[in-house]
Formats: sequence, C-alpha cells, structure tokens
Amino acid sequence: MGMRASLNESSVKKYQSDHVHDCKMKNYYEVLGVSTTSSREEIKKSYHNLIREYHPDKSNTQHSTQFHLIDEAWKTLSNDELRKKYDATYKASELHSVHPVQEEISLSETFYNAKLDQYERDCRCSGKYILSRAEISDELLLVDCDNCSLSIIIDCAICEQNKDANS
Ligand SMILES: [Zn+2]
Repeated sequence: MGMRASLNESSVKKYQSDHVHDCKMKNYYEVLGVSTTSSREEIKKSYHNLIREYHPDKSNTQHSTQFHLIDEAWKTLSNDELRKKYDATYKASELHSVHPVQEEISLSETFYNAKLDQYERDCRCSGKYILSRAEISDELLLVDCDNCSLSIIIDCAICEQNKDANS
C-alpha cells in the first residue's frame, strides 16, 4: 500500500483545457440582477425594469442582444419546472468551471487506509481528500478537501490494475 506513481503532467493539462473551462453557462440570475433565492415576483419586477431599459426600440444593437438574453432568462426562471432544471444544470457546470481543481492523480497515488476502507491524500492545507472505497463508481471522481475549498480529480481507471497489489 501507499504506492506512488509519477504525476502525469500532460494529462492534467489536457483535462483542464478539455473539461474545466468550456462548460461555463450563462447565469440567468445575474442577467436579471436577482439572487438564486429570489421569488418569482421579485424576478418579475426586476425583469420588467430591465426590459424597459434595454428595449430594442432604442435601435441599439448591444441593447438588442442584452434584451434577448434578459427575455431568455425570464422565460426560464419564471417557469418553476424550467427553473429547477436550470438550477441543477448550472450547479453541475459550476462544479467544473468554478471549482478549483488542484490536480488530477491516479488512485495509486493515494494512501489506502485499510482500517477505514478509504483512500486518503493530504491537501496542502492541513486537510485531507478522502474517498471511501464504496464511492468509486466512475473513472474520474471529483473529491473535495475536508478542510478547504480545493478539489482533486482522482482517476480510478488507471488504478484498477494496482488494486490487487495494494491490498
Ligand atoms: Zn485543503
């Protein structure tokens, strides 16, 4: 146990450019100047104010783009079902684009704690990244530090071959 493999730098960079930055979604709450907890009435009020301000009648192309965005945001957030769906999708995209992914490692680079049946890795703060063996469901898993806001991606595909050697 405690086997270490060298960190594959190129795979880390590849992951970050492929997955972390290209899934940023438009924040409809920001567009409408409301918060995620705002009620439909509050959103409606803000929408009407913005629509007056950005109405494309004023023949301003920039306003026209913004007007459509405001309209799109309103159509989504004013519908309970669409809003719920949007919230879930946005949260998932945030996970990748905003979450500070510290590094991508393979499972063999973690320490296997046999007593607790979990894989551990020290964070640069005094915290730990902990992945219980039961949580391993996917090839790539995002694991949060138990102490700070950093995350790492643990590649469990590479490790399959090392599992027997570790135990
Ligand atoms: Zn930490």
